[in-house]
Amino acid sequence: MIVVGGGPAGSSTAWHLARRGIDVMVVDRARFPRDKPCAEYLSPEASRLLDAMGALGDCERAGAAHLAGMTVRSPNGALLRGDFAAAHGFRGFRDRGLALRRSLLDAILLERARIAGAQVVEEERVTGLVRNARGAVAGVEVLDARGQSAVRRADIVVGADGLRSVVARRLGLSRAQRRPRRIAMIAHYRGVDGMGAYGEMHVERDGYAGIADVGGGLTNVAVVAPAARVKRAAGAAAAFFDGWLRAHPHIGARLARAERVDAVRATGPFAHHARRAWARGAALVGDAADFYDPFTGEGIYAALRGGELVAPHIANALDARSPTDADAALAAYDAERRRTFRGKWRVERLVSLAVAVPALMNRAARTLGRRKDMADLFVGVAGDFVPPSEILSLRYLLRLLAT
Ligand SMILES: Cc1cc2nc3c(=O)[nH]c(=O)nc-3n(C[C@H](O)[C@H](O)[C@H](O)COP(=O)(O)OP(=O)(O)OC[C@H]3O[C@@H](n4cnc5c(N)ncnc54)[C@H](O)[C@@H]3O)c2cc1C
Repeated sequence: MIVVGGGPAGSSTAWHLARRGIDVMVVDRARFPRDKPCAEYLSPEASRLLDAMGALGDCERAGAAHLAGMTVRSPNGALLRGDFAAAHGFRGFRDRGLALRRSLLDAILLERARIAGAQVVEEERVTGLVRNARGAVAGVEVLDARGQSAVRRADIVVGADGLRSVVARRLGLSRAQRRPRRIAMIAHYRGVDGMGAYGEMHVERDGYAGIADVGGGLTNVAVVAPAARVKRAAGAAAAFFDGWLRAHPHIGARLARAERVDAVRATGPFAHHARRAWARGAALVGDAADFYDPFTGEGIYAALRGGELVAPHIANALDARSPTDADAALAAYDAERRRTFRGKWRVERLVSLAVAVPALMNRAARTLGRRKDMADLFVGVAGDFVPPSEILSLRYLLRLLAT
């Protein structure tokens, strides 16, 4: 078994497979610890998956911040706040979300996979797939740090190689979505004014910003803006990022005395999905399978959960008596994945629509600002422990948009 990518999806997949006694190798082009542009917030339910992998204590010892919930500010300045611990009757694995730098989190997760028995190969880039006579994936082509190419053979290859997954592309499964086409720019600051125990989202007419304490005295500031507005020239994204923050004084003023401790990193456009998350001899997990919009911030949870979902199906495929049975096992993974994430995908699309239409966002924020019970439910869905159906009901949606 080869898992391409040692991010949260790859580490989780490898951990769950190794724990089943399956021989698994993780191949990543990076050397860990490595950074990844991300707002670095983990939903309360992600803690369940971290705990199962034995990584929760390590994350807390590494200085993860605890978040009590989320605040959202709409373009007209309306504010809403939702708490993870609330009276709606649903409880997350923990009452708090976590936030931790990806350079720390991803290294912890990969180490858990290694301790569980996975072999980890770093600084090796997967460049293509190897196929057998039946056309099934039977391994990967790799290029190491010295420029040496080689072939690594495997019964099944899992593509956990993120947004621009080479595995998904080589399988012809990746589909870029035309909308939303957004670019994200991210940096860490020390000394931001007015930080509290809540993750913050600030929706503006020209994009949105996420601000969160990520522990160690650092604040993650992420700006997501329409791709058409962000120039591609070197340094342009950083200039845009600084200008965007200054143009929104309620954020800019809080950063005026803060020190930026690293370079602004840009990523995107990121909306894409795979037609299906499997092919003969291969499966896709995490961002390689789909990613839409970072607003509801559950990509890490989805990546970890994806590893948990795929592992038993891969075990079935490896045990299959025929190629047809192996295909059926991988197709069953795809079906379970769709059932598991379908509700959240709908929520993401509704939120993305509201973010793009300021009048809609203003109205929803005004209602949620007055109705704490509804705001708590929304934040619970974003936190992955309230079923999405709670806020996709006609009753909730009509109330949300009522004047
Ligand atoms: C702006 C932004 C903000 C976000 N904020 C949040 C947030 O606050 N909370 C949250 O939960 N999610 C957030 N996300 C989403 C989250 O970052 C992703 O969903 C998550 O990283 C997915 O994990 P993954 O393991 O699938 O991919 P990745 O974390 O991208 O890992 C992929 C790995 O594959 C390796 N790789 C890639 N190509 C190859 C190759 N050819 N050969 C070998 N190795 C390869 C890479 O080096 C990398 O280590 C955000 C995303 C963006 C864009």
